[in-house]
This record gives sequence, C-alpha cells and structure tokens, in this order.
Amino acid sequence: MKIAVYPGSFDPITLGHLNIIKRASRIFDKLYVVVMKNSDKNPLFTREERVELIRRTVVNFPNIEAETSDGLLVKYCREKGATVIVKGLRAVSDFDWEFQMALANRKIDPAIDTLFLASSEKYTYLSSSVVKEMAKYGADLREFLPREIIDDIIAKVLSKG
Ligand code: ADP
Repeated sequence: MKIAVYPGSFDPITLGHLNIIKRASRIFDKLYVVVMKNSDKNPLFTREERVELIRRTVVNFPNIEAETSDGLLVKYCREKGATVIVKGLRAVSDFDWEFQMALANRKIDPAIDTLFLASSEKYTYLSSSVVKEMAKYGADLREFLPREIIDDIIAKVLSKG
C-alpha cells in the first residue's frame, strides 16, 4: 500500500490545495493531509478548525484523511507508514524553499521522498493569504474556495475585523 502525506498550513484550504489533494489521492492508496504547526505565521484559524474545514471538503474521498501534527514531518510520515511527501509548486518562487525542505527531509530520512506536483494553471496565483484578503473586501469566493466552507471563511474574516 502506497501512503503519502501532504503537509501545509491550510489557513484555510483553497481550491489550489484541493486540486493537489485530489490528484495525489489518485496516485496513492492513502493520503494524509496534515496541518503542521508553523511558528512563522499568525493564523486566522486554529489548527483544529483548519483540519475540520479540510475534512468537510474531502468527505467524499474515502482514501483521504486530515489530521494535525506538531512534530517533525518525517517522524509523522514514519508513524503513518508513508514514504512520500507531496508538495504543490505554483511558481519558481515556491521552488527555493521547497527544494531546501525536500533535501533536509531526505537527509533526516533517506527512505522518504518528496514528490512535487505542478499547480493547475487555474490556481497558480492562489494562496490562503490572497483568499483572506479577498474575503475582507466581499469578493466572490467561489473561484477560490471549496463551496462547503465559503460561509465559514467569510464569517471568520469578518469577526476578526
Ligand atoms: P499557502 O502558501 O497558501 O499558505 P500552505 O503552506 O498551506 O500554502 O501550502 C501547502 C502546500 O500547498 C505547499 O506545497 C504549497 O506549495 C501548496 N499550494 C498552496 N497553494 C497552492 C496552489 N494554489 N496550487 C498548488 N499548490 C499549492
């Protein structure tokens, strides 16, 4: 059984993330979408809320699970029996950091590889921060977010003023 892990902050999950998730779920028998602790960011949603939003989005995909983890990514992979880390690449600007992370992770555990999926051209401009900015100004979010979570994102953004 081929198991993969797709890590990120997902604050919140966007259609760009979802596109990567669906494609990866066709390649692997099981995909764990994991909300990692990222001390550099000041998140809008708690990690539990982010996991909940992902779960609602992938409810019809039996081989996808969403969880949170605050440990080392490769340790999480080992616990799950995963041998592949999936990452989405939007543009060259994503590359430097992702490449560095991939090398670091392989150094820690050579048995775990990173697989990069090229973003769909429909979503290369899309990030969680762009979506949060759009939500503030009342833009139509149907092109950016899974439908089932749009209302929650708007409510949260507005509540934070
Ligand atoms: P963000 O940059 O939106 O905060 P995350 O930290 O949640 O993203 O990213 C998790 C993973 O998803 C990373 O591999 C990132 O490159 C990828 N990703 C984010 N947005 C997109 C998108 N629109 N298309 C493809 N991959 C994406």
